Amino acid sequence: MIELKSLSKHFGKSVVLDGIDLTIKKGEIIVIIGPSGTGKSTLLRCINFLEHPTAGEITVGDLTVDVNRASRAEILLLRRRTAFVFQNYALFANKTALENVAERLVVVDKWPKEKAYQRAREILERIGLADKADAYPASMSGGQQQRVGIGRAMATGADVILFDEPTSSLDPEWVEEVLGLMKQLASERQTMMVVTHEMSFARDVADRVIFIDGGRIVEQGPPSEIFSNPQDPRTQDFLKKIL
Ligand code: ADP
Ligand code: MG
Repeated sequence: MIELKSLSKHFGKSVVLDGIDLTIKKGEIIVIIGPSGTGKSTLLRCINFLEHPTAGEITVGDLTVDVNRASRAEILLLRRRTAFVFQNYALFANKTALENVAERLVVVDKWPKEKAYQRAREILERIGLADKADAYPASMSGGQQQRVGIGRAMATGADVILFDEPTSSLDPEWVEEVLGLMKQLASERQTMMVVTHEMSFARDVADRVIFIDGGRIVEQGPPSEIFSNPQDPRTQDFLKKIL
C-alpha cells in the first residue's frame, strides 16, 4: 500500500535521509523513533511532498512516482492520499472547528460546501467534539485543538495519516485524550505512521517500530522485540536514554 524505495533528502551538503526503503501494509500502525535531528520529520514530510525528496520512489496505493520525474498532478494526487497531523496542530485560527475539518474537502477536493460540512459534523461527532463545531481554536484546550487536527486528517479519507509528534506540544493533562483518539483510529485499522516519544503508545499500539538514526533505518520489528531485545548498539543506547 505504501512503498518507499531509496528515498533520499539532502539539504545542501547535508544528507538527512540516506536511502530509506520501506513497505507498509494497509492497516498497519508504524511508530518511528530515534534521536532528535535524525530525519524523522523529514521522512514524513517527504512522503507527502511537504519537502521535495532529492531521489527515490514513492508508492501510495496504485500510484508510483519517481520523485525527480513527478508531475505537478502526480504530486497533488499523492498529497490527497496522505494527511498530516502536525505537532503544533496548524489549525486556521480564524476558522471554527467545523470549518477547519471541512477546509480541505472544500478547497482541495472541491466538495460542495453542504456535503463537506455534513461530513465534518460526522467527524466532530466521532471525535467527541460535536459541541465545539462553532468554537474557534483559541477557545479550545490544546487537547481539543489536536483532536480537531486529527479530525481534519480523518475527514480526508486519506490512505495513510502521518503524525509528527502529535502530543509533544501538549500540556501533560491533554496527552491521554489525544493518544486515546489515535488508539481508536488504530483499532479501526487506519494506516498510520507516527513519530512519537510516547513509548507506551508504541508498545500498546504499533504493529512495527522503526528506529532511525542518521537518516537511515537502523532496526525495525514488533515493539516486543525492539523494546526488550534491541540488536543494534545505537538502538540500545537510545532506548536506555528514554525508557
Ligand atoms: P527529527 O524530526 O528526527 O528531529 P528532522 O527531520 O527535523 O529531524 O531534521 C533532520 C535534519 O535536517 C536536522 O539536522 C535539521 O536541521 C535538518 N533540516 C530539517 N529541515 C531542514 C530545512 N528545511 N533546511 C535545512 N536543514 C533542515
Ligand atoms: Mg521532528
